[in-house]
This record gives sequence, C-alpha cells and structure tokens, in this order.
Amino acid sequence: MKRNRNTPEIARKWRPDTQLVRGGTYRSETGETSEAIYLTSGFCYDEAETAESRFNGVAPGYVYSRYVNPNLKMLQDRLCLLEGAEACTVMGSGMAAVFASMMSFLKAGDHVLAHRVMFGSCHYIITQILPRFGITYTLVDGTEPANWEGAFEKNTACVFIETPSNPCLEVIDISHIAGLCRSHGAKLIVDNIFATPLLQKPLEMGADIVVYSTTKHMDGQGRTLGGAVLGNRDYIEETLLPFHRHTGPALSPFNAWIIHKSLETFSLRMERHCANADKLARFLEAHPAVERVFFPALESHPHYVVASRQMTYKGKPCGGSLVAFVLKGGKEAAFGAMNGLHIVDISNNLGDAKSLITHPASTTHSNISPEEQAKIGIAPGLLRLSVGLEDADDLCEDFERALAG
Ligand SMILES: *Cc1c(COP(=O)(O)O)cnc(C)c1O
Repeated sequence: MKRNRNTPEIARKWRPDTQLVRGGTYRSETGETSEAIYLTSGFCYDEAETAESRFNGVAPGYVYSRYVNPNLKMLQDRLCLLEGAEACTVMGSGMAAVFASMMSFLKAGDHVLAHRVMFGSCHYIITQILPRFGITYTLVDGTEPANWEGAFEKNTACVFIETPSNPCLEVIDISHIAGLCRSHGAKLIVDNIFATPLLQKPLEMGADIVVYSTTKHMDGQGRTLGGAVLGNRDYIEETLLPFHRHTGPALSPFNAWIIHKSLETFSLRMERHCANADKLARFLEAHPAVERVFFPALESHPHYVVASRQMTYKGKPCGGSLVAFVLKGGKEAAFGAMNGLHIVDISNNLGDAKSLITHPASTTHSNISPEEQAKIGIAPGLLRLSVGLEDADDLCEDFERALAG
C-alpha cells in the first residue's frame, strides 16, 4: 500500500478539520479517492523469511486482523492526530476499550479510584468485575476537588473519570486530578466520550490515557459499535497491545472504515450538534414546565467555571451536545413529554444525527436504588437529551408542543 503524500509529520501540523479529512489516509496502487475496505482476516507473504521477520517484529507489515488491519490502522492514525496522542488502539466497542484500558495493567492488590457517577457498564467493571480479581475501589464525589486527595491509597494504581458525566453532565477538573495522580504514581484514565476530542483534550491536561466509544459522535449516525484507547507509545505498545492481541476485542475492518469516513464530517457535525444543544438548553431553561437544566455552558451550571476552561470548540467555551433537564411534574410529566414528541426519538443511544431522549431513572440508571439516584441528581423528572442535527427551531417547537400536552 502506497503512503499518501501526507506524511504523519506533515499532518501533525494541520488544524483538526484538515486532519479529520486528510490524516491517516493510505492509498493502494489503484489510486482510489475514497479509502478502500480491507475485508480480510489474514495476509500473505512472498517468502517464508518475510513471515518470519513480520512475526518477530523486525519488518513492518500486517500479520492478522485481530492485531491490526489497514482500515484499523487508518482510523488509529487519524485519531492519534486529532487527539495529539503518540499511539492508539481501536476495539470492537467502547466498553471493550474501557475494560482493556484498565485490565491490561491492573493486578491483584491494586486500588482504583473513580468519580461516583459514570456510565453503567464502567460502574459494573469497577464495582463488580475488578474486585473478583483482588482489585479494590473507592468512589468519591469527584466534582468537589477537596474529596480526591484523601481518597488515594498507597496502592492506588489508577483513577477513572468521565467528564461531563452521564446523565447530569457534572464536570470534573481534569488538570487538578492529573496533578494528584502524578504525585501518587497513579495513571489517570479519562472517558472523553461526551465531550469528544474536538471539545476537550485530556492528554494536554495531564491525563495518561483517553478512552472513546466511537459508537457515539464519531460514527455520528448510529450504525456501528467501536472503541478506542489513546496514550503514550510505551503504554499502548508494551501494555495494552499484548493484552488486546491475545484477548481479541478486535474492531471489524468494515466498521473501522465507516468510522474513518464519518470522521471527515466530525467537526462539521459537532459544530451543529453543539449550536443546537446550546439553543435547546436556553429554550428549556426559560420554559415554565422545567425545574432545572444541566448544560455545562449555562451560567446556572454548578461547574460552569471549570467547564468554560476545559471544554472549548475552536477557542470558545462550548457545552457539548447533551442536555439534561428536570421537569416539575416528576416521572409522569417526563413520560408525558417523551410520548408527546414528534421529532425526537425515545432512545438511550447518543451522539446521533437524530435527536434522542431518555429517562435515566427507568432505563440507563434503573439498576441504581432510588436513594442512590437521588444522591447523584437523578430525579424522577430527569430527562437526558442528545441533540441531533435537525433544525433547532423545529426541535424547540417539538418540545413546546410536548411540554404543553
Ligand atoms: C456509550 C458509552 C460507553 C460505552 O461504549 P459502547 O460503544 O456502547 O460500548 C462508555 N462510556 C460512556 C460515557 C458512553 O456514553
């Protein structure tokens, strides 16, 4: 496969919008404009010696698609450029990426520290799976900077945070925790799915590892599952890759191709997602049926100051594409509003071109007791809205009608 004229050295100097269209692209000898799809599990070698040198790592080249494949490589290279990371491994889902990011280096006797609010499956890994292997954990209210310092233990090997968090969009100060991790010798892993690398760059703020579900905004049209882990070359190549290669959470080349092609429009889409979300958040905040709105770019957000510094799009503070809000009438009002919407779909997915709404208390967070739900802000009337690419005025009118009914 012939490399493009655009070498990684050149591509690193481009701005994100150019990297997303031109970075990590390779052309075969047929000179196709759109990247080819390499639906192959294996690769052939001209000579036995070539196979030998690829297996022992002396010669570059592909050996098996569970390890890496041209489509996976293109996606990894493009994500590295966007994130400003040394290395990346893509996987079959966001959860495969989260699990491998931790399990590849944790061992019995280690301790994990995490913010108490996180995506349900991340919570399950830390509180149900890791303890079976002798890995203990502590969950803290991480939105309060003072809570972190005392929660570190001598054996704390890793800190896991999601910011903004699901579903109430709490914002955690990444730089502050990165500093604590450095002084305690722990790795900081940031689940950056809600903000995306276009709005928030955890590695620049001192995090060690960033994880994504490409299923969300990166695919952007709700077609594929995928995940990615980014970090420095030593961690990815020496720690994560051996775990990944031998346990097999591989991404399909076809899905990698879809995600890679979607990244061409990623920045354009995020710009619209975020502008629409901003408009919806302000509309909902002014609506009499709404008790409160959680959106990081609203001054009423409890972590507005950290959010404005940490989340930006092209230099300007940006609240992202998700809006959470509480209706005054509780669960009944929430269900009534959902059922009354004509445009917005009821779905627990997010980051889609279509606007999607979910009632966390009865779906994504229904495994948490009502007392716990109350503690982390999941009121019976809470709705989480993933704002899509439709005309924002149509979305506002959809809510206007649904909230009146
Ligand atoms: C969706 C999501 C995940 C899991 O990703 P999958 O691709 O569904 O496996 C993890 N964390 C957050 C914050 C998510 O939104």
